[in-house]
Order: sequence, then structure tokens, then C-alpha cells
Amino acid sequence: MKRKAVTILGATGSIGVSTLDVLARHPAQFNVFALTAFNNVATLFAQCQQFNPVYAVLVDEVAAEQLRQRLLAVGSATIVLAGKTSLEQVASEARTDYVMAAIMGGAGLLPTLAAAKAGKRVLLANKEALVMSGRLLMDTVAKYGAELLPIDSEHNAIFQCLPNSTAEHAAKNTHSAGRAASVERILLTASGGPFRSWPLEKLAKVTPVQAVAHPKWRMGQKISVDSATLMNKGLEVVEACWLFGVTPAQIEVVVHPQSTIHSMVSYNDGSVMAQMGNPDMRTPIAYALGWPARIQSGVAPLDVIAAGRFDFERPDDKRFPCLRLAMEAHETGGYATIALNAANEIAVAAFLAQTIGFMDIPLLIADVMQSAETGTPDKLDDIIIQDEDSRRAASFWVKKKMH
Ligand code: NAD
Ligand code: MG
Repeated sequence: MKRKAVTILGATGSIGVSTLDVLARHPAQFNVFALTAFNNVATLFAQCQQFNPVYAVLVDEVAAEQLRQRLLAVGSATIVLAGKTSLEQVASEARTDYVMAAIMGGAGLLPTLAAAKAGKRVLLANKEALVMSGRLLMDTVAKYGAELLPIDSEHNAIFQCLPNSTAEHAAKNTHSAGRAASVERILLTASGGPFRSWPLEKLAKVTPVQAVAHPKWRMGQKISVDSATLMNKGLEVVEACWLFGVTPAQIEVVVHPQSTIHSMVSYNDGSVMAQMGNPDMRTPIAYALGWPARIQSGVAPLDVIAAGRFDFERPDDKRFPCLRLAMEAHETGGYATIALNAANEIAVAAFLAQTIGFMDIPLLIADVMQSAETGTPDKLDDIIIQDEDSRRAASFWVKKKMH
């Protein structure tokens, strides 16, 4: 069988590096077509030397020129492109079969849409893209015969726990809401983050270093802060609604500190299917690359004796209001979720820069959400306008707070 050519958007990040680790185990099945990053010359250079992609893209023009010179000096045949539009170009290129969407935040929206429009298999880590464009991205997948496979560990677990035919409909978005009548509920697990048992008074004083120290997963900075506020779980509820055609009422968020169960599906006969494993993103990445087959990921098998026990508790939305805000946004409509995501990105950046406090994050988001349009956009221009407006409003909120 012909090898699948893979493009990785966000190759130098946590998910990008894990994806390359899995691909390196299967040289007969996959080759790397393009690798992209924002401005990380050193890492992308090393990756290009190891994987010899046809293209390497850096969004930053100066960094791209540096990479070009370094690759030239070692006689590499990789072609270096620069700028945002090059991301869309390599994501939709005829020679690409699979696209790993692993850019952080709204910056991943356009290349992810481009990949779907070109009918690719899209491996979706970039949940923000789906939160911003739920209806448009799902419609694009169905219209252009693309496949959308979840990389987020919870959604990948749910996907694995669905009946095969239902999972196939979900991946191709060929069937409307509800999908399998036998599926009653989705149990979306959450680790609870580093502050799960902290009292409210202490949360106001949390520092960026404390917030990015996730107890179970090693991830990029932004998603680590999102896990600490539980916004990550909120974004994931929205993500699950779009991917699996369900409503927030059909999803129960359960805190499971061990992070051994990655999520569950509850059926009408009383059965609950769970997917378990060590917390290592190479498992969901390998599953989406190989689907419907399973391939080796390099992840050690789960030692259930060592795992010992499973605890479950309800999330506390007094201490972690972001989860509720995200659910409310989804009920309100697509414009509200765009505002939520944009405000969150600005808030997290301001928190990491130490200009606002940890508990300001939900306050900022709630304020910015108030001014969102009502309804759900199905045109890209409307999505982008709401995103820009909300980012502006959020930046203004941060400025006011500083004075
Ligand atoms: P990261 O910060 O480690 O890496 C981000 C990547 O995106 C880097 O390659 C960076 O160069 C690139 N990038 C950043 N800003 C960019 C921009 N403006 N334009 C182009 N490229 C840009 O992030 P990560 O932890 O790998 O997460 C990536 C995505 O995957 C996020 O959407 C996150 O929510 C999702 N995700 C990550 C994990 C995880 O375990 N890390 C798990 C589930 C979902
Ligand atoms: Mg997740």
C-alpha cells in the first residue's frame, strides 16, 4: 500500500513532537510531507534533518530565512516557506494525505479549515479551531469528504468507545445529531488540574509557574493554564457536542484525578464503556493515524495493579467558573463560543505575563461574552470579525485592570 504523507501543523510543540515520535516507528506506512511552526528554528531544523520533509514552514519571516540558510548549509532538499498563508498551502496540498492540526489557539483555524476543504484526514488536536467554527468545520468535513479524527485524549477515548459504524459517521460527519440511539450519555473525564483541592481564597494568588505544573500531563503552556481553570474541560464539552452530535445535557463532566480512564460512553442497557491507558498522547495520535487499524505507539501497557484505584468526583463550579461559562456559551450559540475562546486566549496570555490574576480569567471572559452577537455564524468572515472584536474587548479589559 502507498505510504500516507503527513503534514504536521505545529510540529515543534508538545503534540507535534509526540506525532513525530509515532511516525518514526512506522517508516513503511507514513512519510512526512510538511512540518510547520511559528518561529522555532532550532527544533524545526533538527526535525527536518531527521524526517526530510518536502516543505518546512515558519510563520515568522526572519526565522524562516535563518532556517533556509541552515538547511542549505547541510545540503538539505527541504523547501522553506514563510508566512501564515503557507500553512494553508501545505495543509491543502494534493500530495498531503493526513494533516495533524496541532497549532495552539485560534491561529490554527484557517489551515485546519483548508485541510478539511481539501478532503484530507484531519487529526484534530487544535480544539480552539473547532470551538470557533463548529458548524462551518463540521459542514466542510461532510461537504468535501474529509475525515475528522479527535486527538484530544477524552474525545479519542469516546471515539474508541462508540459503536464502529457510529464512529465512522462521526469522523465523516455523515449522520446528524444523536447518531447512535443506544448511546445515552458521554462521561467526559477531567484530571481536575493542579488546584483541584485548593480553597477559593488561595486561588486568587496562584502564579503562572504553579498553574502550568500539571499533575498528569506534560503539555504546552496555554492548555496547561486551561486545565488549571477547567476552561480546557469547557472547551472540550463544546468540542464533544460538535464531534459527536450531542448536547451539553448529554455530557457529564467527572473529575478523575488519576487520569487513567480517558472518558466513557454510557449505553441504554446499563453498560458503560471506558478507554484506559497511561497518560501519553502518543496513544490517541497512533489511533487516529492507524484508524480503523491499531498501530504501535511506543506507550507502555497500563499496569492496573500499579494504577490501584479510580476516584471520581463532581467538578466545583464555584472555584472553577470557566467550565460553566463554556457550557453557557455553547447553549447561547456559536458567536458566544468564539467570544469565549478569544477572551480566554487573551486572558491566559495576560495571566502568564502576570498582568492579571488567576481568578480574573473567568471575570474577563464573562464580561467579553456579554457583547457577542447572538446566533451561530456559518460564514468564515463572520467568525473572524467576532474573534477580532472579542480579542480587542479582552485586551481593553486587561489594560483597564492594569491602571
Ligand atoms: P504547544 O504550545 O506545545 O505547541 C504549539 C505549536 O503551534 C508549536 O509548534 C508552535 O510553533 C505552533 N504555533 C503557536 N502559535 C502559532 C501561530 N500563531 N501560528 C502558527 N503556529 C503557531 O502546544 P500543544 O500543547 O502541543 O497544543 C497544541 C494544540 O493541541 C492546542 O490546541 C491544545 O489545546 C491541543 N491539545 C494538546 C494536548 C497536549 O497534550 N499537549 C492535549 C490535547 C489537546
Ligand atoms: Mg483533553
